[in-house]
Amino acid sequence: MQTLPIIRHLIDGQLVTGGNRSQEVFNPATGQAEKRLLLADKLTVEQAIASAHAAYPAWRATPPLKRARVMSKLKVLLEENADAICALVTAEHGKVLGDALGELQRGIENVEYASYAPELLKGEHSKNVGTGVDSWSEFQALGVTAGITPFNFPVMVPLWMWPMAVACGNTFVLKPSERDPSSALLVAELALQAGLPPGVLNVVHGDKEAVDTLLGDKRVQAISFVGSTPIAEYIYATGCANGKRVQALGGAKNHAVVMPDADVPNAVSALMGAAYGSCGERCMAIPLVVAVGDATADAVVAGLKVEIAKMKVGPGTDASNDMGPLVTKQHFDKVKGYVDQGVAEGATLVVDGRNVQVPGHEAGYFLGACLFDHVKVGMKIYQEEIFGPVLGVMRVNTLQEAMDLIDAHEYGNGTCIFTRDGEAARYFTDHILVGMVGVNVPLPVPVAYHSFGGWKRSLFGDLSAYGPDAVRFYTKRKTITQRWPSAGVREGSVFSFPSTR
Ligand code: NAD
Repeated sequence: MQTLPIIRHLIDGQLVTGGNRSQEVFNPATGQAEKRLLLADKLTVEQAIASAHAAYPAWRATPPLKRARVMSKLKVLLEENADAICALVTAEHGKVLGDALGELQRGIENVEYASYAPELLKGEHSKNVGTGVDSWSEFQALGVTAGITPFNFPVMVPLWMWPMAVACGNTFVLKPSERDPSSALLVAELALQAGLPPGVLNVVHGDKEAVDTLLGDKRVQAISFVGSTPIAEYIYATGCANGKRVQALGGAKNHAVVMPDADVPNAVSALMGAAYGSCGERCMAIPLVVAVGDATADAVVAGLKVEIAKMKVGPGTDASNDMGPLVTKQHFDKVKGYVDQGVAEGATLVVDGRNVQVPGHEAGYFLGACLFDHVKVGMKIYQEEIFGPVLGVMRVNTLQEAMDLIDAHEYGNGTCIFTRDGEAARYFTDHILVGMVGVNVPLPVPVAYHSFGGWKRSLFGDLSAYGPDAVRFYTKRKTITQRWPSAGVREGSVFSFPSTR
């Protein structure tokens, strides 16, 4: 048997082994196992939690400006090591290098935002709330916090979480996706180089056993999760039942409405990237177009057909490719199964990517772009998240009909409208039951100084990821009221409720 390089855990500043189970990590472009990942057992996760717990008091006491400086140094190291990080993303996830660089850049912007922590943690102050009484709120760290992340943004989503958590004075245990764990681990090693003390950030690899240990351990105060909705719901319910603060971001099925007055060629260009970029493995991808009017639908389908024919599918390491492979063989089979299902359900398969061949990469998990027309509400390919390069077109007669469809769907992560009509756009953005909305912007992913979160079954919890919400999520408000009576002045007892009456 071939000996594969081992991916280890990072605990207390050291790369360590732990757990008797392991699994292979594949290169999706070749279908070959290239590394072996250790899967943490309960004891290993408890060691990581213990390390984070021990590191907490000193880190909490470290001035916010010093914590922020670590983030500033990390930003520089991430930029300097961008090629190495992106190479790991492409080797394990499969996305093209330019796309990996895009996600890294978005992650870096979160590190940059975390470096503003001293400003963000300033709190609120009111002088003289009563005679001689001052009051202020400060935002204190929680303690040990944890993050569990999905495969599709292996470098960015961990950076949504731990930089702000540690900048706020917490310590952290990260459990990255077991399918593509190496880039998050490299970033954590760079954080140590940037000056993060050992134990402030620990990385454990693993599956349900590792996650359940985090969910059950009393020392873990808060959990951030990003992944599929069934697991998000489980994490939220279990974490809350165990008394933790939880934010759990789940799946999506994002609709793009194309109005009759839209600039169709530009809408088609935008839809191509939104549907097929990263092989459709984005929670903000557009897998559904809702065209208002048959003429609009015909123009969109015709335009997409032309553009799909120009697409290049192949390994993500070749910069001339537009789309790489799906992440694993299992996911490839699942996505292909949805295409078979759509045909069986009666949708019109306008472009069939199922037989795409990439010379020299016959064992890779490549699926070409697929396009369905006449998708209907009752179909599984409409209801369920496919998470692959499969775009469906639906036909409706009015904007209201399009909005009713979107509002009735179980997910509410992202949506967008293509139009030149300001009134329609304003009505749409005002009323649609979705958390992130674009107007002629197909992927309305908020920048790092806003926050990211869907509605309905795309987010469990009250606070969104990163940005200002992250400052609130990773801190507890404490409100202090104080007065300093003059020495020697005798004050009587007051039995009525204190007020400024
Ligand atoms: P996933 O739910 O399979 O896995 C996410 C994490 O949960 C991984 O770390 C995994 O190890 C862990 N996990 C898996 N099964 C578990 C179980 N039974 N018990 C405990 N932990 C478990 O998701 P994925 O396939 O890695 O990622 C794709 C999904 O993530 C899609 O549904 C996508 O929409 C969603 N996603 C959502 C957002 C968002 O912001 N809303 C962002 C990115 C991805």
